[in-house]
Amino acid sequence: MYILRFANWRPQTDAILGKHLFSRISRPIREVFLQYHVFAVGPLEANCAVLFESPSGDAVVIDPGGDANTITRFLDEHHLTPRYFLHTHGHFDHVGALSALKKKYPDATYLIHQQDETLAMHADKTAQLYGLQALPATAADAYLSAETSLQLGASQITVIETPGHTPGGVCFYLNEENLLFSGDTLFQGSIGRTDLPGGNYDQLIHSIRTKLFGLPDEVVVIPGHGPRTSIGAEKKHNPFFRYM
Ligand SMILES: [Zn+2]
Ligand SMILES: [Zn+2]
Repeated sequence: MYILRFANWRPQTDAILGKHLFSRISRPIREVFLQYHVFAVGPLEANCAVLFESPSGDAVVIDPGGDANTITRFLDEHHLTPRYFLHTHGHFDHVGALSALKKKYPDATYLIHQQDETLAMHADKTAQLYGLQALPATAADAYLSAETSLQLGASQITVIETPGHTPGGVCFYLNEENLLFSGDTLFQGSIGRTDLPGGNYDQLIHSIRTKLFGLPDEVVVIPGHGPRTSIGAEKKHNPFFRYM
């Protein structure tokens, strides 16, 4: 497990002061923090991220792909209440812990793109192809699309549709925090594989070029596997885009 957090992330602008969540009360405005922790879960070491706001304890779990106990222990130890389980796509290494988490936190909303829902519901079968085990996901509570925008305290999470690795692949973007969760669409120095069912190389390249590389260079990218990177670094060094 490795931990990332907004190390110096004090509310530096007015906007980050919880959009004045507490400004209507006469007490001094309290500071609101957004933090995130990333765990490498399951045998394929998928990056599962817990984003949470202090002091409310509201949390979002991105890609609970395995090791449900590690994730729930973290949530419990930090007194967090998961509001959403979000999935970048339906591959078993990104959905494997969903049903266990849903059982423990039935009030949290499970969201995935409609085109990847079936893939997630067959996570057990696809895991078997790798000689691994995973629990299938349940039916989604709601679907993600380009119109989806979710609120976590003062922060807004928007959905960017990036098909190519899977038909229903998406990325999660936090505009004010300059943060992108790119799933298996974009990695440090690489891109997602497209040889699995539903994969499409040209579509993936197009998604990254037109959707992700339009974001500011300084946006930090947390990929679905491996170390973090930035949009600027990938535009410059990623061998798949060197001649763009
Ligand atoms: Zn994948
Ligand atoms: Zn993956």
